[in-house]
Amino acid sequence: MTSPLDRKQTVPELAFQIKDRDYEAWANSPAAQALKRLQANPRVKYIVIAVPPDACPACDDLAGTYPKDQVPMLPVAFCSHPLGCRAYYMPYLDDIYP
Ligand SMILES: [Zn+2]
Repeated sequence: MTSPLDRKQTVPELAFQIKDRDYEAWANSPAAQALKRLQANPRVKYIVIAVPPDACPACDDLAGTYPKDQVPMLPVAFCSHPLGCRAYYMPYLDDIYP
């Protein structure tokens, strides 16, 4: 016996395809553009992921300082905050000159 519900079996496949495209979409997002600018700036030594004080545990986990080539994507995919992910990139400047 078949029912219309059987069609839902194609959904995971579709979700995967959308996820694959997410990276391209992300590369054009404001967060990605900001990250690119920071990475291109030689005075920026590291990239800091900053989160608000009431951030969800997923964002809290991600908060920290990263080497410029190992920065996770924002917004945080597993963010569970009702207002959405509000983590953002901040430059860690190499400001210590003699
Ligand atoms: Zn979050």
